[in-house]
Amino acid sequence: HQGNNNLRPRFLRCLLSTMSSTQPPRVPNLIGGSFVDSQASSHIDVINPATQEVVSQVPLTTNEEFKAAVSAAKQAFPSWRNTPITTRQRVMLKFQELIRKNMDKLALSITTEQGKTLKDAHGDIFRGLEVVEHACGMATLQMGEYVPNVSNGVDTYSLREPLGVCAGICPFNFPAMIPLWMFPIAVTCGNTFVLKPSEKDPGASVMLAELAMEAGLPNGVLNIVHGTNDTVNAICDDDDIRAVSFVGSNTAGMHIYARAAAKGKRIQSNMGAKNHGVVLPDANVDATLNALLAAGFGAAGQRCMALSTVVFVGNSKSWEDKLVERAKALKVSCGTEPDADLGPVISKQAKERICRLIQSGVDDGAKLLLDGRNIVVPGYEKGNFIGPTILSGVTPDMECYKEEIFGPVLVCMEASSFDEAIDILNRNKYGNGAAIFTSSGAAARKFQMEIEAGQIGINVPIPVPLPFFSFTGNKASFAGDLNFYGKAGVDFFTQIKTVTQQWKDIPTSVSLAMPTSQ
Ligand code: NAD
Repeated sequence: HQGNNNLRPRFLRCLLSTMSSTQPPRVPNLIGGSFVDSQASSHIDVINPATQEVVSQVPLTTNEEFKAAVSAAKQAFPSWRNTPITTRQRVMLKFQELIRKNMDKLALSITTEQGKTLKDAHGDIFRGLEVVEHACGMATLQMGEYVPNVSNGVDTYSLREPLGVCAGICPFNFPAMIPLWMFPIAVTCGNTFVLKPSEKDPGASVMLAELAMEAGLPNGVLNIVHGTNDTVNAICDDDDIRAVSFVGSNTAGMHIYARAAAKGKRIQSNMGAKNHGVVLPDANVDATLNALLAAGFGAAGQRCMALSTVVFVGNSKSWEDKLVERAKALKVSCGTEPDADLGPVISKQAKERICRLIQSGVDDGAKLLLDGRNIVVPGYEKGNFIGPTILSGVTPDMECYKEEIFGPVLVCMEASSFDEAIDILNRNKYGNGAAIFTSSGAAARKFQMEIEAGQIGINVPIPVPLPFFSFTGNKASFAGDLNFYGKAGVDFFTQIKTVTQQWKDIPTSVSLAMPTSQ
């Protein structure tokens, strides 16, 4: 299977040429192996959040183009599902090599469109790359089961078969990692795929698709359609799409979960979060403060596993001052600046929303220990920057606690006992991640047993599991039952067929009773 080699550098060349040309490039769809410009009448500007420059324009794909993408995926399915698993794995083996080779270009695209620092963009790609590496061992992951002689001369075995056409709908905050959570697992299992990247930063998805095709993914196995709500609704409603992977906000996620389920599809929906870090007084002070800074302000707080809430237990509250001092020292700048610790937030609207939530905390009686709202970054005065912000004395009834802020804002609370801290966490509607900082094994074990979050960190601030485990959000952070990647990810993209066989002489007598094995 040969991919479409000559197309690979096209989008990248276009992107790089934007700096000199006046007309931003249009981001192409990928339909049946060809990167094609959409005939859409409306496009959305993809904006560099550090400069407000228009990087490219993303189309609101027409319904005909969407149908053509699904039809290409449907047509490609019979031959791809019958392609030997070893061949499918080898495409992934080549794909991971090409991702490594193109890491810098991908990172630059992510920083330009999304804003995170180049170093963080490398991490974004690397955590997705690990899923591709994992997919290289799909044959062992996709094995069926066999029980010989369930009755005299009768055997039963199960096969894990691909579903058909699957789709993925992505958020803006991890432009490489999240598409790579989705299509590598799906296609290596033998499915074909329609990907809808975030309209805010579609560049990395297009580049990854170019690389996947260069790695040998046949035409039509991976397709890309851009757009927003209408494209998403078309995915939910399409009769030929069997499963939908979604990552994003609760508003979109619950809508997609309901709408796609009404059409009988499988859905895995990873959604919002409010992750707490509980600090016990016996924790290592330096390590804990550094972990809180990294997990609260890294990626400008725009990670679904960001530790956005700190619960200081007992006299660990006295560490707040040091936290503020260290947060002040963080460098806010454009992500391409080598000394930047955090970049801008994704859009002007996001900045306004975050600033409004900070103000709501102040109005509700919280203490603003560090205010990053009026930061000016020299050379990038138009950027959507917010400096590290710390609110103290926050209580569970405040809006700044109840809402996911998704910005560089640490909300600090106090608990007089460990049990009170556990109670605060468990009363929160979200259950993505939670971390404890302590030197007590007994406290850590109690935390692990009692906390209703899907991913627990013990002295680890962002406990995102590697691909041999799964990403396991809980409560309002996840809808569905089969999580992303790991064994559950393979289960999500496959269905079981069970075969019962008999290779002995046909019985001479007839019995119309239900067959039993005794
Ligand atoms: P978003 O929900 O606004 O957008 C996600 C996708 O859904 C986009 O492709 C968008 O086009 C589409 N969409 C948005 N609104 C829609 C609607 N009303 N109808 C149909 N489709 C719609 O999310 P975002 O702002 O891009 O991402 C941030 C959110 O994602 C945060 O809440 C964050 O916690 C969450 N997130 C969760 C995880 C996780 O694994 N749990 C990972 C990353 C991000």
